Amino acid sequence: MKPPPFAYHAPRTLREALDALAADPSAKVLAGGQSLIPMLNMRLAAPSALVDINRVAELDTLHVGEEGVTAGALARHARVERSDEAAAVQPLLRLALRHVAHPVIRNRGTVVGSLAHADPAAELPAVLALVGGTVEAASTAGRRTVPADVFFRGPLEPALEPGEIAVSAFFPAVPPRTGTAFAETARRHGDYALAGVAALVTLDGDLRVAAARAGYLGVAATPLVLDLTGPAGPGGDWTAAAAHVRDRIEPEADVHAGVEYRRHLTGVLTERALRSAAAVALRGVAGRRTRD
Ligand SMILES: Cc1cc2nc3c(=O)[nH]c(=O)nc-3n(C[C@H](O)[C@H](O)[C@H](O)COP(=O)(O)OP(=O)(O)OC[C@H]3O[C@@H](n4cnc5c(N)ncnc54)[C@H](O)[C@@H]3O)c2cc1C
Repeated sequence: MKPPPFAYHAPRTLREALDALAADPSAKVLAGGQSLIPMLNMRLAAPSALVDINRVAELDTLHVGEEGVTAGALARHARVERSDEAAAVQPLLRLALRHVAHPVIRNRGTVVGSLAHADPAAELPAVLALVGGTVEAASTAGRRTVPADVFFRGPLEPALEPGEIAVSAFFPAVPPRTGTAFAETARRHGDYALAGVAALVTLDGDLRVAAARAGYLGVAATPLVLDLTGPAGPGGDWTAAAAHVRDRIEPEADVHAGVEYRRHLTGVLTERALRSAAAVALRGVAGRRTRD
């Protein structure tokens, strides 16, 4: 199918983009177009205008610092995935991006666009929620920083107001003594996952588990973050943590998987991801001790 008619704006500055959006409350931002264009073609969206931000050079940024990774609105999935600096500061970005669609889609799709699309089956919203990241939104009225736990209001419903552009997203650095892992199952590689999990495990000085947390995609209407420190205990009982998750989640059935299968799968992925994050944390601590 073809998209419904729309006006098209191709601003060169953020100011021009914000003015174009302010002039038309039902206009939509066009970033990589990897979700929006299919939605237009299927007539699932009918905005009066598209504000194409691809020529706005000031949004094409990727900043990596000790505190974390800040992706500008035009940082493509592939650029962030390939950045060794970003992977060193927040490894979950690369680990999750490898599961996002296919390389050609990652060449166009943007990290911020994926967050703004707010698909509950997408990888990056779960990562942003787990690491406690933020989205910076700008409009002609000013700027505001939106924490991940309020950014995802519902399926395809980000906390962005008409006239706002998500100009960047901040993913905090992984804390010390912490290992990360990502696990998901999709029917075919590159498809949206049936369920997936990003995990963080932090060890204390005695190599006991100080914190274990997991962020989920595909099991709830918005990214779900669970603190599994209690169920795992200081010794890291990952089987008990997975059992806790299976009891806690309320996944929905769809044409690809029933409720019980998704519940079981989420438990299996949880145990795998936590075990592997703990092993990464242990290697990191051991490596540091060997170097010291
Ligand atoms: C075949 C296929 C498979 C895919 N598989 C996966 C997958 O497994 N996992 C996954 O996570 N994604 C998947 N995707 C989606 C892909 O990751 C998209 O790139 C991403 O969801 C949206 O990013 P985009 O830059 O293309 O945004 P667009 O398509 O341009 O926009 C998507 C939505 O976000 C809004 N938007 C975008 N940027 C901004 C901004 N800066 N400010 C305000 N609003 C904004 C748009 O208005 C629109 O509503 C798949 C896509 C395809 C075509």
